[in-house]
Amino acid sequence: MAAASYTGRFAPSPTGPLHAGSLVAALASWLDARAHGGRWLVRIEDVDTPRCVAGADHLILQQLAACGLVPDAPPVWQSQRGALYQSALDQLIASGSAYACACSRRDIEDALAALGRSRERHAELVYPGTCRAGLRGRPARGWRFRTQPSPLQWQDRRLGRQQQDVEREVGDFILRRTDGVWAYQLAVVVDDAAQGISDVVRGQDLADNTARQILLQRALGLATPRYLHAPLLLGPNGEKLSKQNGAAPLDLGHPLLALQQAAAVLGLAAAAAGGIADALAGWSRQWRDFYNRPCD
Ligand SMILES: [Zn+2]
Repeated sequence: MAAASYTGRFAPSPTGPLHAGSLVAALASWLDARAHGGRWLVRIEDVDTPRCVAGADHLILQQLAACGLVPDAPPVWQSQRGALYQSALDQLIASGSAYACACSRRDIEDALAALGRSRERHAELVYPGTCRAGLRGRPARGWRFRTQPSPLQWQDRRLGRQQQDVEREVGDFILRRTDGVWAYQLAVVVDDAAQGISDVVRGQDLADNTARQILLQRALGLATPRYLHAPLLLGPNGEKLSKQNGAAPLDLGHPLLALQQAAAVLGLAAAAAGGIADALAGWSRQWRDFYNRPCD
């Protein structure tokens, strides 16, 4: 692929400082961009404002810089891009791909129970489609995407062929929440397109979102980027290391050590003696060999 066509990104949520797990995703996206001679951007995903921690965004940028991971353009903040998301939602409403929903969580639970279904998907309920045919006089609370009954296939550069039947497994998913917060899926799709992202490289825990994002891209007439879902650093409980299961903030005093741990998770060999720049250059070369196999 031509170097000029590659743009990648790291998109942290500022719910706290970077930790060893989030550094793995940052390093993976940076290495993939460098291995392709492409651009690397940082996007602060602060769209879910109730979960954001004041100052965490700038701390994350400092931590990245201490690790030698400096974006090629000024970062963008999703909280400043509501007009773009509204315009995408308007487009989806106009084309019939989005509809208003009046349901509370309790309404959805009751409707699922009436159908004899209580299936939970993570903490989210599979929406039973109550408002697909209209609100029947109830006030709109949020907006949902109208899914179609067909399995969607996509190719992951590391995981291979993936498939999800979004209507059956996820249901009509939220685009704008009851509290006015833009849904992650819509914001990511709009921003990836607006920033010209050619390659999404992120942690494997996010792979499950990809089918929904491809559906949104298609409904909005946007290109689908290539996807690579990188290995995760697991915590002591075998789950992805996160702030919730005790991940400590990255130690800015030892950035090379932190990078070496992240590189090991990605399957890269330890860097020879030298500084951060030498280590990053060496891993970029290794990355080119490990992860740039043809997709199809
Ligand atoms: Zn509803």
